[in-house]
Amino acid sequence: MRVAALPRPNPNKTKNMATTTTSEDVEIKINNMANKPTSLYQQLSVQRDWKDNFKELQPMKLDSPKPKNSLRFVFISDTHNQTDNLKLPEGDILLHAGDFSQTGLPSEVQHFIRYLESVQNQFQHVIVIAGNHELPFDVENYGKGVSAFYHKNKKIDGKALKESIKSKFTYLEDELVEISGIKIYGSPWQPVFGDWAFNLKRGEECLEKWKMIPNGVDVLVTHGPPLGHGDRCQDGARAGCMELLSTIQLRVKPKYHVFGHIHEGYGITTDGLTTYINASSVNLRYKQVHQPIIFDIPIPNSV
Ligand code: MN
Ligand code: MN
Repeated sequence: MRVAALPRPNPNKTKNMATTTTSEDVEIKINNMANKPTSLYQQLSVQRDWKDNFKELQPMKLDSPKPKNSLRFVFISDTHNQTDNLKLPEGDILLHAGDFSQTGLPSEVQHFIRYLESVQNQFQHVIVIAGNHELPFDVENYGKGVSAFYHKNKKIDGKALKESIKSKFTYLEDELVEISGIKIYGSPWQPVFGDWAFNLKRGEECLEKWKMIPNGVDVLVTHGPPLGHGDRCQDGARAGCMELLSTIQLRVKPKYHVFGHIHEGYGITTDGLTTYINASSVNLRYKQVHQPIIFDIPIPNSV
């Protein structure tokens, strides 16, 4: 396993390619309705190509036999400290897409680490990203927004907390990890959602982060959903990011995009190319109600 450095633009790659358009040439433009995701969704979802390709999928049974020469991913998100009754099926890679705590207190992070240690033997790898509830993990913005309220008088060292996870597991923050030739990229950012951690303004700020996702990623892990997949809030509003959806559909084209954040958006959908999975474990009342979701990816070049 290796944790790769952040991608750098390769100036030689974009030259001499004028005759063919590959996904590497695609420049994602900011949608002029990026700030109005619910209205934008209403427009997009009635279009022919959306309707023809969009499908809801049923989760695989957790004891389904694993195909030969594949890696089984066990995906969970948004556990918010509620792990006591969480049963995990067998698999090769455990993925968690953030919001493992309520506010990222050291005691909560320790609780999460102890939980991961208790299930670690079932897996070859454990991969974790942070979510907007892990307030100190967003080191640059810590002390502002809701963290100024919840962690008033506390000066929690977010870097040290991340190190405590990194010393035992794989923690991804705008980083790629490759396991058996399968590329997994993780990012904690999402469009403004209250005033919590890893918040970005819709449009340009979001797109700048998504530009860091390299081409060729097989499994994209973000805390928040893209627009139109697993992002429907209880009141019918859509919380997903249009620029993330464009990045996925037009450039990165991962096999899987997995996330949480919108607890009521639990489930699996597809646009015909990418499978989108929201595996939020808790419901709106922070009660653990949803099962993990599993998926298998063939190991490249295996016989
Ligand atoms: Mn959550
Ligand atoms: Mn969240």
